[in-house]
Amino acid sequence: MPANGGALSSTAPEAPLPDKEVDLGTWYDEVLKRAELIDVRYGVKGFVVYRPNAMRIVKRIYEMFEGELESGGHLPMLLPLVIPMANFRRETEHVKGFEDQVFYITEAGEKPLDEKLVVRPTSETAIYPMLSLWIHSYSDLPLRLYQSVAVYRHETKATRPLLRGREFLWIETHDAFADEVGAKSQIMDDLQVAKKVYDELGLAFLVVEREPYDKFPGAESSYAYDALLPNGNVLQIATTHYLGDHFTKAFDVTFVDRDGNRRNPRSTCFGIGISRTLAALIMTHGDKYGLVLPFGLSVHDVVIVPIPHKGIVEDVMAKARQLEDKLRAAGFNVYLDDSEDTPGDKFYHWDMLGVPARIEIGRREVEGKFVTLYRRDERTREKVKDEDLQDRLHALSKEILNNIRDRAWERLRNSISDAASRDDIERLAGEGRIIRANFCGRDECAQEIKEKTGYEVRGRRVDVEEKPDGNCAWCGRPASRVVYMAKAY
Ligand SMILES: [Zn+2]
Repeated sequence: MPANGGALSSTAPEAPLPDKEVDLGTWYDEVLKRAELIDVRYGVKGFVVYRPNAMRIVKRIYEMFEGELESGGHLPMLLPLVIPMANFRRETEHVKGFEDQVFYITEAGEKPLDEKLVVRPTSETAIYPMLSLWIHSYSDLPLRLYQSVAVYRHETKATRPLLRGREFLWIETHDAFADEVGAKSQIMDDLQVAKKVYDELGLAFLVVEREPYDKFPGAESSYAYDALLPNGNVLQIATTHYLGDHFTKAFDVTFVDRDGNRRNPRSTCFGIGISRTLAALIMTHGDKYGLVLPFGLSVHDVVIVPIPHKGIVEDVMAKARQLEDKLRAAGFNVYLDDSEDTPGDKFYHWDMLGVPARIEIGRREVEGKFVTLYRRDERTREKVKDEDLQDRLHALSKEILNNIRDRAWERLRNSISDAASRDDIERLAGEGRIIRANFCGRDECAQEIKEKTGYEVRGRRVDVEEKPDGNCAWCGRPASRVVYMAKAY
């Protein structure tokens, strides 16, 4: 552990952050800077540096997802960063979807390469040529693989750290099954993996099936997790796709089934945006004092701040050290901040980093055999008897997660309004609401809504069954589904 345990290098408390509901952009940039999460001064547009305070959270998010994927039968792998041009071109719909955003490697030293290389924008065209070598018989299926890597897309829209960059961290799975039933059941498993981890991160989300014209290039159907940002926009943080036999056909992946027939497996892929999940975590829970995080995500679960007074410095320090040992032995990620900063500076720092619990020990606490326990999510203090502290921290860890998750869900629920007409949609879009409406399912309507309001039809919920009870709110034709519309980041 570094000497400062993750403390910020600047010690002077600054003015509180702006209100994130009012000025999310400034709030976000300031948090990334003050909590020393992301440095945007790298010098290449769309590429940022993840500093240790961010990487510790990122690693934890990776562990959570990887653990869930592996317990569902996924195995880790690592594909090269580069894809040969010939392979990249083999599934035409897919290529069209990514063509404009691809980085190419064309030279080495002074010499042009014999074959131009694609820097992966996603890895379907990297893995399928390998699957054609690995899959032969029904006994090779199902095959479930994943990798935790960065992908590269030359985004032309304005880039924003973690939200939209030209390099972003993610996990991608590539799974193959003997039939459609197996593949579609994997889609449901993927949605469960995302739900489980996002629940543990306290995030609220809409799980939607994307409309047909809005699918992943080369997919038959796409499902997404959309998180709500404090400005009313939604952010896609994970997507899973049923690919049918598009890729296995294009790349000649075949297997011999139990009856001796040669067939193409059905496949799926699941993309989990780790950078975006971090952004959603920061924006959903943070406040004007910085990050707010559940236990297990912050640099420390508990920070002990001794508040020594003349005459009892030793007693305060002795109690602080004793508690540190006891809590560490009990499995807490605890840190004793015995630096020379003032208690006020320390409070500011650990608030900024979102440390969920802080223990303050001064003269009263030593004499009264208790501690003052501060919780970051509510910014409140309580007295806890020394002997009750461990139990209280275990309980607090659950309370904080439940509290920030409830707040996130309440905000999401309160952000949704029903629209019955074109006027409703235009008015609610002007107010920045998430809109629920009956919809005809036509691309033309979605295009018009986008042009007139800037809103996107995000799709229909898959976690809740909702049936249309009227005509399309936009065009008045018969409605085939209930969809959610929002401004997407
Ligand atoms: Zn319509």
